[in-house]
Amino acid sequence: MIPLRKNIARMAGYVPGYQPEDPAAYIKLNTNENAYPPSPKVLEAIVAEVGEGLRRYPDASSRAAREAAARLYGFPTEWIVMANGSDEVLNNLIRAFADADDEIAYVYPSYSYYATLAEIQGARVRTYGLTDDWKLADFPDCYDGKIFFLTNPNAPYGFTFTQEFIEELAGRVAGMLVIDETYADFAGDTALDLVRRYENVVVTRTLSKSYSLAGMRLGLAVARPEVIAALDKIRDHYNLDRLAQAAAVAALSDQEYFREAVRKICATRDWFSAELRNMRYAVIPSSGNYVFVTPPDRNGARVYQGLFDRKILVRHFSDPNLAHGLRISIGTREEMEKTIAAMREIG
Ligand SMILES: *Cc1c(COP(=O)(O)O)cnc(C)c1O
Repeated sequence: MIPLRKNIARMAGYVPGYQPEDPAAYIKLNTNENAYPPSPKVLEAIVAEVGEGLRRYPDASSRAAREAAARLYGFPTEWIVMANGSDEVLNNLIRAFADADDEIAYVYPSYSYYATLAEIQGARVRTYGLTDDWKLADFPDCYDGKIFFLTNPNAPYGFTFTQEFIEELAGRVAGMLVIDETYADFAGDTALDLVRRYENVVVTRTLSKSYSLAGMRLGLAVARPEVIAALDKIRDHYNLDRLAQAAAVAALSDQEYFREAVRKICATRDWFSAELRNMRYAVIPSSGNYVFVTPPDRNGARVYQGLFDRKILVRHFSDPNLAHGLRISIGTREEMEKTIAAMREIG
């Protein structure tokens, strides 16, 4: 027997969304990737970086990328840390704040990867459910765990918590309040201002979804310099390679391209939601680049299979609380028209 730590031996490990071997054969709406390619300026910046310079280590602090993010979000550079996907910074937040046997918590349902990361650390996990009107159920006046993760907009449902409520939470969380703003660019609402006003608030962002760069693994956190300094101690010192750093600067600097892609996705989402409501689907109003929808017979697995047979991949969760529905990422208008046609056929 290899001498594994007990919690590693015990844990199941996270299962990411299905990535088919031949993605081009599918309309792929299962992992909330962006429907559009990255900005042409990003591709140019990556190509320009490919060359003999690759024998040199990248800038350990990702300075240029942090400066681009700092300009965009209106913070000093010392308030930003870049990450190899926001998953990396979520992991490092747990490592920084939660010892073995400390507790972290998150909203159920949201991003279950927080639980996997906590298990690796040996931390305990608590979840808080939702009421029918999308409020936190039974959240205490003072939550005394080490971190509370709030995914806003919520995934997989797509609703948002109000900024007033998030500010109230900042006061009710004794430890750190981490707002996972993976989908905030599609919502147009952000808790970044709370980072300035509450020392326990951290906002995480990613370039995977709204900037079409899931394949580059680029995320970041905005937090007080003391928090950033701690995260800097923990991360791999060269966590972003040269191509990723060049891509981050170019992507964050091309706001015009970014805004247009986000605008198209939101317009398609609203059109798609209306079409499905006409087909008597229940559609939760979404602020993300995905919608959670429930067919009239509440049989998500049936519609999933019908779509899969037509080479359309969406996300079906086996979790009994979610199995009645589907999470469908918003593709191009053309892809969503084909999806609607397929769903009409499936009935
Ligand atoms: C996609 C996603 C992430 C991970 O983003 P990466 O930057 O690609 O690691 C984190 N949180 C939520 C809620 C997500 O949906």
